[in-house]
Amino acid sequence: MAGAAYGAALPAGHTTKKMISSRSALEERIHLTADEAKWFDSPSSLPLLISDHLADLMQDEEDDPIRRQFVPQCMECDIDDSLDPLAEVDHSVTGRLIHRYGHRAALLTTDRCFSYCRHCFRRRFTGTDTGPIGDEEIDRAAEYLAGHREIYELLLTGGDLFTLSNAKLDRLFSTLRSCREDLVIRLCTRAVASCPSRFDDELMEIIARHDHGGPFLLLTQFNHPRELTDESIRAVGRFLALGIPAFNQSVLLRGVNDDADILEDLCVRLLYSRIKPYYLFQCDLVGGTAHLRVPVARGLEIEQELRRRLSGLAMPQYTIDLPEGGGKVILTKDHLVGEEDGYYVFSTLDGGKRRYPKV
Ligand SMILES: *Cc1c(COP(=O)(O)O)cnc(C)c1O
Ligand code: SF4
Repeated sequence: MAGAAYGAALPAGHTTKKMISSRSALEERIHLTADEAKWFDSPSSLPLLISDHLADLMQDEEDDPIRRQFVPQCMECDIDDSLDPLAEVDHSVTGRLIHRYGHRAALLTTDRCFSYCRHCFRRRFTGTDTGPIGDEEIDRAAEYLAGHREIYELLLTGGDLFTLSNAKLDRLFSTLRSCREDLVIRLCTRAVASCPSRFDDELMEIIARHDHGGPFLLLTQFNHPRELTDESIRAVGRFLALGIPAFNQSVLLRGVNDDADILEDLCVRLLYSRIKPYYLFQCDLVGGTAHLRVPVARGLEIEQELRRRLSGLAMPQYTIDLPEGGGKVILTKDHLVGEEDGYYVFSTLDGGKRRYPKV
């Protein structure tokens, strides 16, 4: 397994013996099921890596939500779907810059993460040992952004950008801010959930120093309320204290959060932590993740139930990123159910009907 090599490349102080990257380390923590054990016979391309923080959170129960997200199973090798259903490769304009939507672009800063999610939709890239972005690639992306003023939002993603060293982050932010000081920069990271200790004084000082011109926004991924630990909430709080707002993108996952009670709890806790639930993603059709997918019909039922229970601010948008690069589309039950005599007819959440004039 490549785990040790990945660990060695993480910023100093964030790798320890407790991190799980081998079968033996995993077996010290949990009793493997047959499907989990079988993965090691022919592992999928996405390495096993579970941070200290998540390893401490994981319980030795088959349906533990942390375990289901981070411990691989042999079903990952049933690859009947594409590895790049969003056609990101076709939309790459420099090696690592994806420009698929007119006003926003995404930069793949590194293929590494503090822990690898088994549902990762960017498996074609994540954990492939491509490594952190080089200075030359940063400059090429900056050049493209300078020549394309229509892009006003940049997503820094990967992998996880905070696995980059502080020096690399400083270089990246400096270059981006000097080429386009108007750019809104989204910091897309799962590290507040998987490695909250990364957000120490030194890193926060670098972020504060570059939070000018266009703002930074924090985009997190919490999928289950158990991930919202005090440490994680404190890490997000450090961004909030700088005036950087936080938004969460969850993935709807079978056996993890495909339940209205769990998602209600998650969304309410997120809102209390001043993190706005933004998206609830339907799993992409990425090869090796079929066993974690929830049928869209079930997702729509959950969405309707959440809509009844949650405030508008606590409610995420249930969204699908369509295959063959079709882009993101919001999924919701259609409440416009008909037309009559110059009126539109709508269904209410509790099944009633109301008319609203067309003009
Ligand atoms: C999702 C995504 C975005 C951002 O989309 P929003 O709907 O604005 O959050 C930008 N670029 C790529 C390639 C994406 O996949
Ligand atoms: S943190 Fe993001 S990029 Fe990394 S494995 Fe999870 S979903 Fe994939």
